[in-house]
Amino acid sequence: MTSSLATVSYIGATILFILSLGGLSNPETARRGNVFGIVGMAIAVLATVLGPRVTPAGYAWIVGALVVGAAVGLFAAKKVQMTQMPELVALMHSLVGLAACLVGFASYVDTSTVFPTEAEKAIHEMEIYIGILIGAVTFSGSVIAFGKLSGKIGGKPLLLPARHWLNLAGLLVVIWFGREFLHAPNIQAGMTPLIVMTVVALLFGIHMVMAIGGADMPVVVSMLNSYSGWAAAATGFMLSNDLLIVVGALVGSSGAILSYIMCRAMNRNFISVIAGGFGTGGGAPASGGAAQPAGEVAPISAVETAELLREAKNVVIVPGYGMAVAQAQHTVFEITKLLRERGVNVRFGIHPVAGRMPGHMNVLLAEAKVPYDIVLEMDEINADFPDTDVSMVIGANDIVNPAAQDDPTSPIAGMPVLEVWKAKTSIVMKRSMASGYAGVDNPLFYKDNNRMLFGDAKKMLDEVWAALQG
Ligand code: NDP
Repeated sequence: MTSSLATVSYIGATILFILSLGGLSNPETARRGNVFGIVGMAIAVLATVLGPRVTPAGYAWIVGALVVGAAVGLFAAKKVQMTQMPELVALMHSLVGLAACLVGFASYVDTSTVFPTEAEKAIHEMEIYIGILIGAVTFSGSVIAFGKLSGKIGGKPLLLPARHWLNLAGLLVVIWFGREFLHAPNIQAGMTPLIVMTVVALLFGIHMVMAIGGADMPVVVSMLNSYSGWAAAATGFMLSNDLLIVVGALVGSSGAILSYIMCRAMNRNFISVIAGGFGTGGGAPASGGAAQPAGEVAPISAVETAELLREAKNVVIVPGYGMAVAQAQHTVFEITKLLRERGVNVRFGIHPVAGRMPGHMNVLLAEAKVPYDIVLEMDEINADFPDTDVSMVIGANDIVNPAAQDDPTSPIAGMPVLEVWKAKTSIVMKRSMASGYAGVDNPLFYKDNNRMLFGDAKKMLDEVWAALQG
């Protein structure tokens, strides 16, 4: 393939990636967006492999790597449960970071490129240094995020004494060794500063994510998404690959916008999230520790729930992480269909940080084929709760916690929540009194108009469905 054909292919792939991102902004066009992304990526890979910079001698290596990579990818995609998706995404981000580090070291020891001027050589070395820096932070940060999302590492923030000073010291070390690296007379001499910086960056990535509390994890996930984009862009600079620069910048900036949206959704300031320490007061993610009981709760049976639903005119369903765990979305939709056929106005209220990844609930509901027009965002539905007969909370906890509004001392104070308690009756479906991801108790459970339907969401919904049909 000639270099101009490769360039044209790259431009085509870039356009497809932009269309893909545009498509992904809306559930109705998301599938098309995905197809654009897949085609764009196929063109990008082909144009790179067949392009002028790869000699036929390299084909065997590339095919071998493609086979191994595709096999691992296929295996992971087939094996991973929908509930493990957020961890998988974190793991993928870590691989982008690792790739940036490896490419950085490889391009540093590669002596085949001759730079016509000292300035160009210095720029290339700067690209390597910054690329490895971003890559290492992304890699170790994402590995810790993986641990936190999968519950292998507790959600409690690790707040080291003088942690901001530690970070500052790390930054100074990185700057100092950057200078040493650029002035190194040869590759051997440059290796030491490069390795020291890599270790500092890896430690910083670990420290940064360890210091972030459970409830702030959505911002971290989107932030690491953004970092992985910048790491890819840095790799593009190191390899002088325009497409990688553009794609990395697209991912980096869209991840940054997502982080901003997540911060706004949680009423948090980005800087204070990164500074860390918000969120859990000791709870572990998801399966987490039970909160202290703070009153009496009123249980309800599946049959009674069905009766309330049957008599209701307006129902709002609020799904959360537990719906994903129980894989209850299909039964939820069966119940929705049944109620709608009987003239009940059933809608869904989606909190921006429900579940464990951005858009988690939308993906599940789309999978169950719930029509998009009855799936509303928090801001669109919150005002309707006072006119709602039954609000049904399915495996959600933090996103419906009134303490966020009423208790300024709560770790989630200020986070906007779905005001399900304003409905005539709210029903919370969960297995126990355990707290949610942020590890805080939920006063909703003790409200007079609230009922608890204890049990696995799928099992309980099956029972409700059976009772509704009976
Ligand atoms: P929560 O984690 O607050 O609550 C989920 C609840 O589901 C738990 O209290 C649990 O209670 C219940 N549950 C678990 N399994 C089942 C089951 N099989 N059947 C029924 N119930 C079940 O989830 P929310 O969606 O309300 O809130 C999301 C939280 O996750 C927020 O704190 C958010 O900050 C955080 N987060 C969000 C991310 C995102 O990008 N969306 C990323 C990372 C974190 P029990 O054990 O008693 O059943």
